[in-house]
Amino acid sequence: MKTVLITGGAGFIGSHFCDFLLGKDYRVICMDNLITGSEDNIAHIRQNKNFTFIRHDVTNYINIKGKLDYILHFASPASPIDYLELPIQTLKVGSLGTHNALGLAKEKKAVFLLASTSEVYGDPLVNPQPETYWGNVNPIGPRGVYDEAKRFAESMTMAYQRFHKISTRIVRIFNTYGPRMRINDGRVVPAFINQALRNKALAVFGKGTQTRSFCYISDLVEGVYRLLLSGVNTPVNIGNPAEMTILDFAKQIIQITGSKSKIIFKPLPVNDPKVRRPDISKAKKELDWESVISIQQGLRNTIEYFRTR
Ligand code: UDP
Repeated sequence: MKTVLITGGAGFIGSHFCDFLLGKDYRVICMDNLITGSEDNIAHIRQNKNFTFIRHDVTNYINIKGKLDYILHFASPASPIDYLELPIQTLKVGSLGTHNALGLAKEKKAVFLLASTSEVYGDPLVNPQPETYWGNVNPIGPRGVYDEAKRFAESMTMAYQRFHKISTRIVRIFNTYGPRMRINDGRVVPAFINQALRNKALAVFGKGTQTRSFCYISDLVEGVYRLLLSGVNTPVNIGNPAEMTILDFAKQIIQITGSKSKIIFKPLPVNDPKVRRPDISKAKKELDWESVISIQQGLRNTIEYFRTR
């Protein structure tokens, strides 16, 4: 039986990984300090004999007894609102937390996977974004705390791979959505669904001409798992290339929920990327992966989850 440590395992993506890997007969150690994660996300697996939860902040030294085969480093605030409220923690988890997790991977001879982000491309001047694009990031803007922490984390991961010869993977995760997002985490999917279900106006930032492309959580998990088992040791984009404007997205949410909500416009946050769409040629070629859940299906599942909350 293989053992995997998932940092940020009680978060949105991390907890879906806990489920997925338990289902594949891994022993799962979930580590989280619960600043943005929640015990609710792992309540249903707490009694599983192959599951262990450790409440710990990975910016402090990580001590794990016994063998570890894989480390999935997912710990980080990930919503723009969260990292504006938690700027220092965001910088620390991406830098010190990644350093500690890499040190543990070296000690245990474990395969290390870094959850990186499309934010490493900043406000991109190239669309769609291939992995070869170096990005357009403002290091001193409010989003810089996340973007630069993840860029540092990628550098640190590559340094451990080259210098210490540890086996590493880097996934650049594009906008992902699904059940277990926090309703009030500020990201556009929970925000719009919450507003639509209450027949309140959907607040579109700016003119809504900025674009995003949304990947359903089960597609993301499958892609990242394939990357983990592959020998690909350079960054790979995982996301859904179906790009849309935020205004069209708002209209789609209103339609799918059957809501009476109107649309209002609010100021665009500083450095909000104007476009974002993954070039997934590398994932297709190297991992034989692409997203399969349509936005309509994914949204129906997610809306159902929020309705029951
Ligand atoms: N957005 C919006 N209304 C909201 C939340 C977000 O119009 O209530 C916009 C935001 O300005 C951005 C896009 O939706 O252009 C996606 O925002 P999100 O916070 O989900 O993540 P990002 O892709 O910016 O990291």
